[in-house]
This record gives sequence, C-alpha cells and structure tokens, in this order.
Amino acid sequence: MLVVGSVALDTVETPFARKEEALGGAASYFSTAASLYNQVNLVAVVGSDFPREHLDFWRSRPVNLAGLQVQEGKTFRWVARYHMDMNARDTLDTQLGVYAGFHADIPEEYRRLPLLFLANIQPELQMEVLEQMPGACLTVLDTMELWIMTTRAQLTEVIKRVDILLMSEEEVRQYTGQASIVVGVRQLLTMGLKYVIVKQGSYGALLFGADGTYFSAPSYPLEEVIDPTGAGDAFAGGFLGYLSTVQPDLDGRYSIEDIKCAVVHGNIIGSFVCEDFSIGRLRTLTMDDIVTRYHALVDCSHFDPRWRNSMGMQSLAPR
Ligand code: AMP
Repeated sequence: MLVVGSVALDTVETPFARKEEALGGAASYFSTAASLYNQVNLVAVVGSDFPREHLDFWRSRPVNLAGLQVQEGKTFRWVARYHMDMNARDTLDTQLGVYAGFHADIPEEYRRLPLLFLANIQPELQMEVLEQMPGACLTVLDTMELWIMTTRAQLTEVIKRVDILLMSEEEVRQYTGQASIVVGVRQLLTMGLKYVIVKQGSYGALLFGADGTYFSAPSYPLEEVIDPTGAGDAFAGGFLGYLSTVQPDLDGRYSIEDIKCAVVHGNIIGSFVCEDFSIGRLRTLTMDDIVTRYHALVDCSHFDPRWRNSMGMQSLAPR
C-alpha cells in the first residue's frame, strides 16, 4: 500500500480531557492501522520540529519511511474541540506548515504498488500522487470540510479519477448540497466512482456501489469514547489493510464480499482508535483483538432470514 496525507501534531479537547501536540494526521493514523495487516509506504512531509520518537515507532513497524521528507520549518498542526456528542467537533485551527508548497516525488520502487490511499490533504497534492501511480489497481480517496470549501474544483477532478470515495455524512451533504445521503451518494456515483463509503461516526458505515450494492456495516457499541480523532483514517487503514491480504481476480478486482469484509475491518479499527488519544490504542492492538471484535460484529448484526408469527415459522418468499 502507498499512502499520501498529513502527518501532524494535534491538540484535541474533549468535554473530559485535553491533549497537546500529540501525533496526528490522516496518514499517521492510516499507516499505523494498516501496518497491522501489511507493509505501508508513507509519502508525507514533517518539519524540523517533528519529534524523533514518532519516526522510531514507525521504524518498529512495517512502515517504509523512504517517502517521508523532513523539511526546515513547522510540522502541520491542527486544533479541534469535541462536543458532548463526540460525533460533532469544531476545528479551531489548521496550520499547513511545511505542507504549503510541498511536492511529492514518488520513488520508482513505489510506483507499481497496487493499493493507493489518498488521505486527507490538499487535492492538488493528491492529484500529483495519483498521476505518478498509473498502475494502481485500487485507489481510495478521503477529504475534509476545509478542502470541500476552499478547493472544490480541484477536489472534483480527483474524485473523477479514483475508485472509492470515503466521506462522512456531513461531508456528503457539504459537497453535494443534498439533505438526503442516498440522493447525495447517487450524485457522487455519477462521477465515475465504483463505491462511496459513508462514515457515520459511532453509528457505523454505509457502502454504496455503482452496481446498486448497498451494505450497512454495524458499529461496535463502545462504552467510552476517549478521542474520536483519526477514526476515519484508521477506518481506511483497516479497509485497505484487510484488502492487501486478499487476492484480487486477474483484472485486479475485489469481490463484493471482500469489499464488505474490508468495511467491517474499517469499522473495527476505527472503533479501537476512539479508546485513547492519538494512536495510543493502535500501539497495543493485536490481530487477536481485531478477530474478537469481528466476531462481536457478526453476532450483533446477524438476523434470521425467516420470521416467526402465530402461524409458526415463515420463510420469506425467494427473491
Ligand atoms: P479524522 O478524525 O479521521 O477526520 O482525522 C483527523 C486527522 O486529520 C487529525 O489527526 C488532523 O491532524 C488531520 N487533519 C485535520 N484537518 C486536516 C486537513 N484539512 N488536511 C489534512 N489533514 C487534516
């Protein structure tokens, strides 16, 4: 897998606690999550103020840092405050730092990688990377309100070129201007996407396919949310991380069942991230933990295709 996106220092306040300048950024969450499944190649930039310990942590994982530049200047910084309903937050400050004017030069050895994640960052930079990866068999795009509002035209060009778009419900409404998610997604699918995945925070995720597929992935009922930052990026890490362990067909395509399992892995990793600030919970997470939560989600979402009434057991008529 290859990922391009932000590596940041985040200051996050919830109604219960505050964390200053912790490791954040979409590509940080993605890389750490996806590295539980397979090797990740990170393309990003940090400033000369970026703490070494974070690089040392990634070196202890299958995260290739050959595409991570360290430039004179300030690391990307982001400040946000969550509401009591932690599905809602306000961004208080975004400082691009060394990302302003950053150009990615993808090493030759990376260009044949099959899975590409364009994590949240300027659409121009996402496009630059996409153009250097013509052989990628699956391209996934994420974005955020800032880019929808300030660089809509460039974002539109990127959307037209990728296979899968990840958006939160709110972002679908912001981008399409539609109150209905179903209508908004239908509009997005006319842009050439194969799938749109709508992230619903603590309520799970929805998968819509251009072929008419609709799948609702359950959420894990977390008792306590410490910090939901990065849940979307970790979702993408679980999604693509899982797909990287699956063999696509000869045309490089994944079956719909594989895509659905990948969405469930996304939900699971997203739920774990919320259990601590920053990437804290991902440091200790194991595949056994993932398997346990996978079973829990199968149990809580499985229901019998037959139903029972006073006349006894009824089988639904075949479709
Ligand atoms: P999420 O909670 O999944 O939406 O991701 C939040 C992460 O994205 C934080 O760690 C931020 O550092 C990073 N981030 C926030 N705003 C932006 C932005 N406009 N561009 C790139 N990364 C951002």
